[in-house]
Amino acid sequence: MAQIHDEKETAALRFFENVVDDSYTTFNYVKEWKKELGRKALGYFPVYFPEEIAHALNMIPVNLLGASGRLPLDIATAHTQSFVCSITKSVFQLASQNLLEHFEALIFSNICDVARNLSGIMKRNFKGKYHIDYIHYPINNTSKSAVNYLEEEYRRVVEGLEAVTKVNLDDDRLREAVQLYNRKRRLLNRLLEIRHESPWLLPYHEYYMAVRAAQFMPVELFLESGERFIQAVLARGLRPADRVRVMVFGDFCEQPPIMFMKTIEDAGCYIVWDEALVGARWIGDVSPDSSSPLRALAEAYVKNPTPLTVRYHPSVDKHKHMLGMIKRTRAEGVIFITPKFCEPALYDYIIYKHILDREGIPYLHLEYEESTSSFEHVRTMVETFAESIMFD
Ligand code: SF4
Repeated sequence: MAQIHDEKETAALRFFENVVDDSYTTFNYVKEWKKELGRKALGYFPVYFPEEIAHALNMIPVNLLGASGRLPLDIATAHTQSFVCSITKSVFQLASQNLLEHFEALIFSNICDVARNLSGIMKRNFKGKYHIDYIHYPINNTSKSAVNYLEEEYRRVVEGLEAVTKVNLDDDRLREAVQLYNRKRRLLNRLLEIRHESPWLLPYHEYYMAVRAAQFMPVELFLESGERFIQAVLARGLRPADRVRVMVFGDFCEQPPIMFMKTIEDAGCYIVWDEALVGARWIGDVSPDSSSPLRALAEAYVKNPTPLTVRYHPSVDKHKHMLGMIKRTRAEGVIFITPKFCEPALYDYIIYKHILDREGIPYLHLEYEESTSSFEHVRTMVETFAESIMFD
């Protein structure tokens, strides 16, 4: 029995690793899946996109996470300011080198000024090559008009995509897609729960490979491999080590190198929760029974009480959220990792730091870029941080 679990686990993990590796610059899996499933590909810039819409229009939604340090950013650097984050440059560089050729449509949104400008630069430089669109999410999510507005915005985006796919959006297909993506979000949350409950069963880098692969894979395929992977992980007979439990905030958009996160764990921590690729699970369960599934998606975005750094929501209390998460995950400290030049991540750091200072909860702040390649300072700082908690 143990051997069967080992085989399942190794096969699923290897598959996730291959998919992630391919997603940095080549996207050969996307090309193969398009052919096999007869779908088109939609690339969207993080943090969130209602992937159900793409699925219902016979497209594979793919989160554009940049090249993670695998490309020189020379062309992008010539087109952008020097003080912007790396993921925006990296996505532009991918398009400039024709590495997004398998995608028919690219979607951006107003998560921050930099992403907003990227959309304009992409349109100007790649007009006619891709269908490029932009979702302007509501700024005032407490307004009575916010849901109506976002539903209309989604409808406009759908019309553009219908012209690309020659498929009309059908409510029944969208309801089916909502059900499939609800399952995907539950599965991602289940992986995260394993990290709260028994992080020694699932090292962070394995967790991350599964979650990152989910950003590229057709949903049905991820559900199948993800479920097999979870079964195998739960069957592992591993024992806990003496490490400090930490939550990590700030990696919701540009992704840190996996070695950066691995160094945090190796320096004496268990990462029991983090914001990596949070957009894929943040919205939770969307009602599949609504008479208008498009409206249900808009409602889920506007009314979700969970904070998301790139959504301003005056009625969401981030201090309460932070303390609730610390209690739920039994975290002993918080590590903020902010991408260089990322204003939204730094704004959140200031908000969260205030409550941690007040409650006397230890925290540490580190900065990264997707191409960071030296981790010695990370190891030293995290070791000191973990020891200060352990021997307090
Ligand atoms: S990393 Fe930060 S600054 Fe860069 S696009 Fe994402 S949210 Fe905007």
